[in-house]
Amino acid sequence: VGQRRGLRELSADEAVIADQLTKLKDEAGSHSPSLLTLRQQLPELEIAVDACFISNPYATQLFLDHLQRELIDTGAIRDVLEFYPSQNQVIAALLAEHLGIGPEWLFVGNGAIEIIQAVIHNFATRRVLVTLPTFSSYYEFAEGRVDVVFHTLRKSDEFRLDPDEYLAKVAETDPDLVVLINPNNPDGSYLPYEDLSRIIAGLPPDVTCVVDESFIHFAFEDMNLDIRSVVGECEHRPNLVVVKSMSKDFGIAGIRAGYAVMHPERISSLLCNGFLWNSNGLAEYFFRLYCRDDFVAQYDIVRKQYILETQLFYRQLEKLSGTRVYPSMANFALVEILGDLDADEVVRHLLIRHGVYVRTCSDKIGLEGQYLRVASRGLRDNQRILDALDDVLSEA
Ligand SMILES: *Cc1c(COP(=O)(O)O)cnc(C)c1O
Repeated sequence: VGQRRGLRELSADEAVIADQLTKLKDEAGSHSPSLLTLRQQLPELEIAVDACFISNPYATQLFLDHLQRELIDTGAIRDVLEFYPSQNQVIAALLAEHLGIGPEWLFVGNGAIEIIQAVIHNFATRRVLVTLPTFSSYYEFAEGRVDVVFHTLRKSDEFRLDPDEYLAKVAETDPDLVVLINPNNPDGSYLPYEDLSRIIAGLPPDVTCVVDESFIHFAFEDMNLDIRSVVGECEHRPNLVVVKSMSKDFGIAGIRAGYAVMHPERISSLLCNGFLWNSNGLAEYFFRLYCRDDFVAQYDIVRKQYILETQLFYRQLEKLSGTRVYPSMANFALVEILGDLDADEVVRHLLIRHGVYVRTCSDKIGLEGQYLRVASRGLRDNQRILDALDDVLSEA
């Protein structure tokens, strides 16, 4: 346990839990211990709000309502569990039609993570360029196989990526694969559609460009809150690979559903390595919903409601003293803790004293300072997060 600097002393019982939390975090490496792990390992801990995991809770509820009505109440769940789901190519064809592209352009994964691993292992042969801070899998899958170089986003720019500076970095470092996460995890910075298109067009044609749009459903450029995806660019850009996790915007990380859009030759080369039945029955049920107009219309209502509540939450976070909140178009905000407090210690205090679980960014490379990543969890839970932060930080 770190030094106490400002925060109140934990009681002896609390300190024991704090030590166990530190151990669990160490064991989880570059990710955080999941809610299930914490509940199992530390049953005495009462977790009221999980603002560590970043998903739309309203979308989870919408999915669950459909699943209850269509699978559980009807008994159709038995088929989903008892039989093999469709093969990947069947699900890919369905999704492709929904997205308005040819089926040969679509790859279905057991979560986006599986696709990221396949893409990095198959398409990076020399050097990968990753922006920092980032989602650690991108460099972890590359390390030890190919060179990894970083383009560090500056906090003085609020972690915004400058397209010209980025293209200059590409020219200077000569990678054969680059990764852009939009909006970025963990800072929430967003590259407007026009800027991203300009980067994609400005890259040398032999550089694979991976754009991860796992948080794109939370970003907007106009009052209508429309989604601006670069998936449509894939057709004219054989070097573009668009990765999409469904875990965050649909709140279904547990069923492992993701896809990617890329040139058919790339898909064929990935399929040589297997991926016949790497999906599952619940993921197929989800993807079939995702292609249904009635579901999409209902989803869009909860998506927009959640965006509005999320942006309101950020305005409230900005009012807390002792913190700096960076602009975010994702469903989480990067919160810098000013002064002399340790982020890990703040995380432990929030969890032990208030049952509010937020993510420390102390393991994120390329971030200088003490940061928390705080997810938006809907109006009521957001208020609990604000109250807990206010209580803990006001002691310092
Ligand atoms: C969470 C996350 C993923 C992984 O998504 P899964 O579909 O759950 O495997 C991929 N990319 C980014 C940027 C993420 O934050």
